[in-house]
Amino acid sequence: MASLSAVTPVGVLHVVATPIGNLGDISARAVEVLKTCSVLACEDTRSARHLLDPIGASPRMIAYHEHNEAEAANGIADLVAAGESVAIISEAGTPAISDPGFRVVRECRKRGLRVSPVPGACAAVTALSASGLPSDGFLYLGFLQPKSSARVRAFQQYQDFEYTLIFYESTHRIEKFLDDLLEVMGPDRVVCVARELTKLYETIFTGRLVDVIAQIKTRSTKGEFVVLIAKKDFTL
Ligand code: SAM
Repeated sequence: MASLSAVTPVGVLHVVATPIGNLGDISARAVEVLKTCSVLACEDTRSARHLLDPIGASPRMIAYHEHNEAEAANGIADLVAAGESVAIISEAGTPAISDPGFRVVRECRKRGLRVSPVPGACAAVTALSASGLPSDGFLYLGFLQPKSSARVRAFQQYQDFEYTLIFYESTHRIEKFLDDLLEVMGPDRVVCVARELTKLYETIFTGRLVDVIAQIKTRSTKGEFVVLIAKKDFTL
């Protein structure tokens, strides 16, 4: 008798985390899934090759990014429903975390299709693990709005939050971000600024906001940043 899976191929959407800078951080399971999936949904097919070539993976690739996410989600869910093994990756880290992914996962879940995570790097959790800030609870808020007024409002809204806050920030705005933070939360707030995690110029500063700003200003602010803010009464 034929097995059920031979009659009805069982599709799956693998949500695959990839390194945030150091290619050595790719997991053995991520490699296996990328080598065996029939379709890979990725933000940029050219940069995906930097990940795929060294591991000898060559799946069929389709584009899935913030500009086509809504329509592409349906098409990807159709492939999973037809029995394909589809993997989704983002440019770096965990898909759906300040990256495309949420819509296709929601669509697959709505249709009762199988979604399987392949965990790995996420900049927020990587920074928290090495920050020295309380990690028993945290609120991840990703990128704030680019305008200073919106940032200040967000800081005011969360300044009494009782767990660690985690933000992402770009190289262009990091100094303004920290200046606005200083204005709202004051010089003694304990923060961690984690730059270029897992990369050659990784730097992680934890301390009073005023001291961390002073250290940051003596260095290059090029690169990718995670900013963590400890609860109000926390001291090192
Ligand atoms: N999906 C990713 C994750 O799981 O962390 C996040 C993608 S988001 C588009 C990119 C932002 O994540 C960067 O602007 C930066 O704030 C943060 N980030 C990513 N890689 C980083 C790294 N190596 N060091 C510090 N921050 C990083």
